[in-house]
Amino acid sequence: MRPAILNPLFAPATVLPGVGARTASAYERLAGPLVVHLLWHLPSGLIDRRHAPKVAEAEAGTTATLTVRVDRHQPSPDRRRPAKVYCSDETGTLTLVFFHAKGDWLRQRLPEGSVRVVSGRVEHYGSEIQMAHPDHIAPLDQRESVQTVEPIYPLTAGVTLKPMTRAVRAALARAPVLAEWIEPRLVEARHWQTWSQALTAAHAPESPADLEADTPARSRLAYDELLANQMALALVRRSARGGRGRSIAGDGRLRRALEATLPFRLTESQQTAAAEIAEDLAKERRMLRLLQGDVGSGKTVVALLAMLVAVEAGAQAALMVPTELLANQHAETLGTLLADSGVSLALLTGREKGRARERTLAALAAGEVDILVGTHALFQKGVDFKDLALAVVDEQHRFGVHQRMLLARKGPAADLLVMTATPIPRSLVLTAYGDMDVSRIEGRLPGRAAVATRAMPLDRLEEVVAAVRRALAAGAKVYWVCPLVEESEVVDLAAATDRHATLAEAFGARVALIHGQMKGLEKDAAMAAFAGDGADILVATTVVEVGVDVAAATIMIVEHAERFGLAQLHQLRGRVGRGAKPGTCLLLYAAPLGETARSRLNILRETDDGFRIAEEDLRLRGAGELLGTRQSGMPAFHLADLAVHEELLAVARDDVRLVLERDPELESERGRALRTLLYLFERDMAVRYLRSG
Ligand code: ADP
Ligand code: MG
Repeated sequence: MRPAILNPLFAPATVLPGVGARTASAYERLAGPLVVHLLWHLPSGLIDRRHAPKVAEAEAGTTATLTVRVDRHQPSPDRRRPAKVYCSDETGTLTLVFFHAKGDWLRQRLPEGSVRVVSGRVEHYGSEIQMAHPDHIAPLDQRESVQTVEPIYPLTAGVTLKPMTRAVRAALARAPVLAEWIEPRLVEARHWQTWSQALTAAHAPESPADLEADTPARSRLAYDELLANQMALALVRRSARGGRGRSIAGDGRLRRALEATLPFRLTESQQTAAAEIAEDLAKERRMLRLLQGDVGSGKTVVALLAMLVAVEAGAQAALMVPTELLANQHAETLGTLLADSGVSLALLTGREKGRARERTLAALAAGEVDILVGTHALFQKGVDFKDLALAVVDEQHRFGVHQRMLLARKGPAADLLVMTATPIPRSLVLTAYGDMDVSRIEGRLPGRAAVATRAMPLDRLEEVVAAVRRALAAGAKVYWVCPLVEESEVVDLAAATDRHATLAEAFGARVALIHGQMKGLEKDAAMAAFAGDGADILVATTVVEVGVDVAAATIMIVEHAERFGLAQLHQLRGRVGRGAKPGTCLLLYAAPLGETARSRLNILRETDDGFRIAEEDLRLRGAGELLGTRQSGMPAFHLADLAVHEELLAVARDDVRLVLERDPELESERGRALRTLLYLFERDMAVRYLRSG
């Protein structure tokens, strides 16, 4: 259970002043739904009101806090012209300008003859010194509270600075004093403040330098987040490794047979990866290994080799994939490869129902199925293996850590291999997976041509359509991916349906449509039509991103490419150029392009090295571009910026190792504080892996 001391932070943000029922959703998009998320919403700028010159010295274009006497009101003569309030000090006259102001409101705030402190932007109009709509108007005794530095927060439509500032202040006021969870020597060495001090400091910048990610305050907060991340991953991993492992070793019989039937030779990189996995399986401890390889690098056959080790050893293996589409495809590919091997393979997705499902489940429990391929259905109740020795999870970023573990638990000591096509920079594997063993497949498969990549503004759509027409005449197959309009399938769907309609009009019936809301069978039909002879163009929402393999497809068109993340575009591009024919990738963008979007498209044109792209992605996202985060499988951090705080990550990992050696159940005083930290960063699930969690 979350410690009660954190409760004030885990109330909905609507308890805060400044967050109303109407603006709640805007706050949620910007920061998050809870009070705690506003703590993480750090300022992106500041307004310095400390400058307090005399009126005559106030420079145009600067922000200043002026102390003046109110001399005279001049109401607005008509609706288009402003009301003016003439004020002065001993050096000159300041004209306050107000559009659409109610006269009595002005007179209340600025009574004639009174002295007022006003703060805002100074402008000169001819000889007149003006301030339009001062940000602050206060009596003299409040000068100190006006003459300060104010943080500027990132905002969005529907949320303006004043209520945001109020909400954040109120959130800060709710933040409790918490026991220190960082190793004391580290705190000392880095000159860090306590958590609450650092939080307060991060929200009260005094100069632009205080807004940098590497200030002590922001570094400490980033470290907190990284520490929570590493601790959570370590606990999950320990639980996965926990219990006894088992040694799985085969005699190589099935693997040799498979290699003999493969229509290609394994690359060196594939062989190395397969050998590393086999070696790990043979160890007594539980395997927890990541197989990393770019899209189309040939991970599937490596996974199959691993699964065959389990079968050779007389046990079972499972392959879990995120979509039915992929499950079907894998079952088919693997089925073909295993045709004469005597290995029995079964498919289990949400779609297998009734008798057939019962038969599969019975065969699985009896050990008559050697390899089970399927979706989330695999780790559900009622799916019982006779002896699951190896669980493989493909495109793992589509699954939560917890789901992977559920699958591994289907066997008494099952080894776990997770595969990802997200080429995460080596150093960052740590944040996504923790301290995990890694095998990598690098390099391009033999016979693969590079994909020519071009970017084009969307208003040249007609040219694109004409080019597609020529390509189709030459026998090409084309993916046409429609934009991620919003986080909503419904809106995406409308875009894809519209595009499908216009293309069908241009090209006749040979255009298929596939999207996330279609039923499984419909999707299969569309996919089959495209893979076979039925369709030449496949209009899709991003469902095609995940591992679909149509060797004949050579053209990938992405509409509104500027809305996709770099990693995602790279994945999409990986769908073409899989056969012997060279591929083309056309990135259509809405002009004008923003700077980040332009860099992103340029990088794609320059390289198809997934690891380089990943590093650039990270760099760009460090610059505040978040679009690709969700798709890239990287955990989203609120406070840590890996481009800046990478060094802290290794420190956090090492610290977590030490702590867990000394205090494996986090029961010491510091251990308790670390539990609180896990809750603070919403890693509640990880706490459950502790005794008395
Ligand atoms: P991914 O890593 O994206 O899962 P796949 O395993 O689907 O990639 O492999 C992509 C394609 O490459 C498949 O059609 C597969 O049969 C083929 N392939 C795999 N290994 C080799 C190889 N060594 N030489 C040639 N083709 C290969
Ligand atoms: Mg794959």
